[in-house]
Amino acid sequence: MLKYSKDIKGLKYIIVTLLTLFWIFYATPAILLRIPYVQQKVATTATRELSERLGVPVRIGNVDIEWFNRLVLENLYQELKEKVDFYFESPVQTVEKSDNGYIVHVKDESFYCDKCIISAGRSGSKWMEGVCAQLEIPTKSNRVDIGVRVELPAEVFAHLTDELYESKIVYRTKGFEDLVRTFCMNPKGVVVNENTNGIVTVNGHSYEDENKHTENTNFALLVAKHFSEPFKDSNGYGESIARLSNMLGGGVIVQRFGDLIRGRRSNKARIEENFVTPTLSATPGDLSLVMPKRILDGIIEMIYALDKIAPGTANDDTLLYGVEVKFYNMQVEIDNNLETRNKGLYIIGDCSGVTHSLSHASASGVYVARHILNQLN
Ligand SMILES: Cc1cc2nc3c(=O)[nH]c(=O)nc-3n(C[C@H](O)[C@H](O)[C@H](O)COP(=O)(O)OP(=O)(O)OC[C@H]3O[C@@H](n4cnc5c(N)ncnc54)[C@H](O)[C@@H]3O)c2cc1C
Repeated sequence: MLKYSKDIKGLKYIIVTLLTLFWIFYATPAILLRIPYVQQKVATTATRELSERLGVPVRIGNVDIEWFNRLVLENLYQELKEKVDFYFESPVQTVEKSDNGYIVHVKDESFYCDKCIISAGRSGSKWMEGVCAQLEIPTKSNRVDIGVRVELPAEVFAHLTDELYESKIVYRTKGFEDLVRTFCMNPKGVVVNENTNGIVTVNGHSYEDENKHTENTNFALLVAKHFSEPFKDSNGYGESIARLSNMLGGGVIVQRFGDLIRGRRSNKARIEENFVTPTLSATPGDLSLVMPKRILDGIIEMIYALDKIAPGTANDDTLLYGVEVKFYNMQVEIDNNLETRNKGLYIIGDCSGVTHSLSHASASGVYVARHILNQLN
């Protein structure tokens, strides 16, 4: 009986200790981070510390406790660290060809290998361009999607969004036979700014939490632009158009559809009186001064076409935000094994321009690893 009560006491002690640890290290910080003041303070401090450490401007909008993600990453690291040498905060500067392989140059060190796999992602795309130029690997960059974000009362698209949530609608314009498509539909969502390499473009979100729902639905209308020789810098073309909107509006420009078709800019008063209240604070302006005629004509034609399936789309009060740009990585010339014309040099993930998602990028790594393993066996 005495032993039984001791066991119960011991068990209680363990449970109380575990609960205390849970409250101290997870629940309390998580609850505190939900208080806007604490959230802002932590984000400001983290921004300052990280900026100082990395030596580059860093902006942290939100801090959250990604407890399980962290756990997964730590476990992965523990498992691999006996087999792999990790070098953190060591950007690769160049990859050079040697007599029997490659030399990878990091700041103070160089590494030699006979097989080299590069995986620098979207952010490393520019760097990858330099590597390809140096190693004479052909690349092509010929696509960019340019358009606007449309915002209108949620009721206008409710018969589609209630059934499908997001509908993919593609329209071929009569004028230029270009394809205009809807993209990223956000029922009862918000329009947001997006910062790509210092250029402010527009995007949209929607929330599962009904308390965060708005009265508006937003979606992008995008025109895919493919370029042919000799032009190679499609992303540069998209960036230039976005820069123009930033130059005129200091960021994203918003215009009423009625103002656009009457050839006049929207101003503060007209936006304030507008039936649709904007969910993003953008500069009222004139998108026709920013977007190429061909693209704008296609978007206007698409809005009239959409009006037939969702009456109210071509209303004067529909808001258009610009510009929305979808950049694509340049495509590196690789064969079916993701190997470049330089034997033993493989390019995987998004920096190859072949994959555009987590699963595809991961699969490309596994594929190359298996391919090399087969060669070694
Ligand atoms: C906001 C956002 C949301 C997304 N949401 C989704 C989603 O929901 N689902 C989905 O499937 N995909 C999503 N993606 C895309 C997905 O993140 C990428 O497709 C995927 O991460 C690509 O993997 P990767 O390994 O090729 O590149 P990355 O994950 O970008 O990894 C490349 C790494 O290389 C580093 N690097 C770059 N240059 C150098 C250098 N010179 N030296 C050393 N290191 C370098 C980079 O810092 C980076 O850490 C999202 C992307 C973004 C930006």
